[in-house]
Amino acid sequence: MKKLVGLIGYPVSHSMSPEMQNAAFQKSGLPFFYEKYEVHPDRLEEAVNDLRTKGFAGWNVTIPHKQAIMPFLDEISEGARKIGAVNTVVNEHGKLVGHNTDGAGFVKGLKRHVHFPIEHANVLIIGAGGASRAIAYALAQAGPKSIVITNRTMEKARDIHNECLRKQDSVMGLEEAEASLSGFQIVINTTSIGMKNDGSTPMDLSLLVPGTVLSDIIYNPFKTVFLQEGEQRGAVIDNGVAMLVLQGALAFEKWTGVQPDVELMEKILLEKLGGNYVNR
Ligand code: NAP
Repeated sequence: MKKLVGLIGYPVSHSMSPEMQNAAFQKSGLPFFYEKYEVHPDRLEEAVNDLRTKGFAGWNVTIPHKQAIMPFLDEISEGARKIGAVNTVVNEHGKLVGHNTDGAGFVKGLKRHVHFPIEHANVLIIGAGGASRAIAYALAQAGPKSIVITNRTMEKARDIHNECLRKQDSVMGLEEAEASLSGFQIVINTTSIGMKNDGSTPMDLSLLVPGTVLSDIIYNPFKTVFLQEGEQRGAVIDNGVAMLVLQGALAFEKWTGVQPDVELMEKILLEKLGGNYVNR
């Protein structure tokens, strides 16, 4: 019997998840079908009840519903609670459980580029929005030596430090972080600076050490100016495609209990984005 999953958000028309997930379901021979649903914020509770009544196996949640959906679910995983956002719902025999696979997806992708023990790494996270929160939480679980978080609005960085990071982690102003760049082995841009492709970058990279893993979670443009500048300075670069694919792959696993063909999922996205993988 066909099992339904999907994506709810507002808007959702840009999402590439249906193609990516349906190709993976087909490849695995699973009778799942993924569709996107535009849900106006005023209709969120109604939509959740509707999906429950229709017996959906689960669904993804995107902007602006990631926080707002939480009161309408029956249970929230510890990670999603700490992050304060749900991107994946699993229908466990009628019980709706909220998870967050964004951060874990990011860390899985990052690890492809980190060829030293992560326990030895000092990590810098630039940005303190929703994506940063998920990444900070998941990175802290991965156990690097230290995580420093910086942001234009320092209050938000302090909140993430208090709620998602550990005692040995800290908050730093943007200028100080820029001046301390040589001390980080992993630098991650989680801000939206670079999306407009207008030449702006979240930080000056003059002091970046060659071999630093430089990650930007933006995937469109495929290689931001930040990554281009880092590459010129000898960084190992990582764009946002892996996070997008692997958060979806983790959701797939939660719905089906089966590991999807991640390479196929990546191929579908890369075709749609018209890019090549960076430094794979
Ligand atoms: P968000 O919650 O709105 O946070 C935006 C972040 O960018 C904040 O830290 C904000 O700083 C900073 N920022 C924005 N404009 C700035 C400016 N002009 N100067 C300095 N800082 C600025 O957004 P989000 O949901 O976390 O998403 C952030 C980025 O990640 C987006 O580009 C999104 O496309 C990307 N993303 C990628 C994936 C993936 O799967 N690859 C997943 C999620 C998000 P303030 O706090 O000071 O405002």
